[in-house]
Amino acid sequence: MSKIYYNSTRGGERKIEASYAIVKGIAEDGGLYVPDRIPELKETWRNLRSMSYQEVAYTVMKEYLTDFTEEELRFCIDQAYDEKFDTEAIAPITKAGDAYFLELFHGRTIAFKDMALSILPYLMKVSAKKQNIHNEIVILTATSGDTGKAALEGFADVEGTKIIVFYPKDGVSPIQKQQMVTQKGNNTYVVGIEGNFDDAQNGVKDIFSNGALRKRMNDQGYQFSSANSINIGRLVPQIVYYIYGYAQLLKAGEIEEGESINITVPTGNFGNILAAFYAKNMGLPIKKLLCASNDNKVLYDFLNTGVYDKNREFIVTISPSMDILISSNLERLLYSISGEDGEEIDRLMADLKENGKYVLKEEMKSKLQGFYGNFASEEETSQAIKALYGEDGYVMDPHTAVGYKVYEKYTEAAGDETKTLIASTASPYKFTKSVMQALGKADDRADDFALIEKLHELSKVTIPPAIEEILHAPVLHTKSCKSNQMETTIVEILGLREI
Ligand SMILES: *Cc1c(COP(=O)(O)O)cnc(C)c1O
Repeated sequence: MSKIYYNSTRGGERKIEASYAIVKGIAEDGGLYVPDRIPELKETWRNLRSMSYQEVAYTVMKEYLTDFTEEELRFCIDQAYDEKFDTEAIAPITKAGDAYFLELFHGRTIAFKDMALSILPYLMKVSAKKQNIHNEIVILTATSGDTGKAALEGFADVEGTKIIVFYPKDGVSPIQKQQMVTQKGNNTYVVGIEGNFDDAQNGVKDIFSNGALRKRMNDQGYQFSSANSINIGRLVPQIVYYIYGYAQLLKAGEIEEGESINITVPTGNFGNILAAFYAKNMGLPIKKLLCASNDNKVLYDFLNTGVYDKNREFIVTISPSMDILISSNLERLLYSISGEDGEEIDRLMADLKENGKYVLKEEMKSKLQGFYGNFASEEETSQAIKALYGEDGYVMDPHTAVGYKVYEKYTEAAGDETKTLIASTASPYKFTKSVMQALGKADDRADDFALIEKLHELSKVTIPPAIEEILHAPVLHTKSCKSNQMETTIVEILGLREI
């Protein structure tokens, strides 16, 4: 088996091993690590369709993490995809309204972030050992809601790690907040920021590039790493469920071998849809990748014009995990369609940093044909939730509903009847108020927690353990700080000495 190495999208670092890329998170030149080639799917569909999720995971991931031994990789997979998920299928498919919903929300925190963040801590532990790192790894994360909790659950009580999450004190949903402040584990720290998500994110970025702090940490046996979706340790596990999803459709007789499907992904940071693009390049028969945005439709504009422009108002929507104006993982797609031209990517990213904008050359633009971009407004999203419930009794969360609406817009515009898999990224129980309002069953004053039981009566879907747990759990984290005190807070948490 030939090895895969990783290169930075900005050309600075080349030929490094997967385990090194996982521990580092981001390249020193500011670029993202990408595999030096996309491996081919070697297993036949005949075999894949009878495999468990764990087996598909091994088959796919071993092609990318070529410096891991079989034993190491199987250990990570077995630790991650176990009873933490509320179904043995791990990522089951439900058919509703002519589409197939690939439900990625059956993990601990009932959002798709669990699919990768359940395994990242183990990948990181094994990687640190392979790289002979003896420091304790401190995961620093800024979150707008879903990543923080999923990372906390993943890293809680994982030996050799600590995790510190900063969230905007008044900028997450009540259920998201309750999930975080009740987090157990003797290595978890949750801090509310007086400020918005951008303040938290900028604070974390500053800390990552603070050389003096890095040295002080290292002298005292610590180093930072990232659980953000730029880590290839998050990207690779996300490729698995697209392959698994196709295999399950085959097994159920819904499609025939070789038949092309479309995949719709509600998109924010472009991580989830990029994984589908990698799956396609491995040999998964995908006709179109539908990139669905909410009112923050930077990607829709980009896919249609070749101009990426983040100079616009930031809109707070009912699909908050997609409220994002800089889609970091898009850089990996750009690298691929530029013919792996690190210099060009460096130039585009400098434009983005300086002017908030970049323009693709015609040559690169023409390579975006495999993608279709559209968006759903707030009104359209709510209507989609209501319509599908009326039609089929299936309740979507607002993120998934954005995907569904864009799927409808596409089929109508293109007259394409290709069977479509929709990445269903969160349980409706995480956003009870928005969902119940869409269904016309709650008013503005309604309380997210009080609506849980009502949603249950209406959807007949079992209330996930993740929700039951937080209802009566004690609050364990009350720390908060100003956004310019994040460094001091970290020093305090780690008990760092002066040097
Ligand atoms: C993070 C998230 C998304 C966006 O995924 P990206 O990989 O950032 O594009 C969509 N829906 C939910 C519920 C999420 O938590």
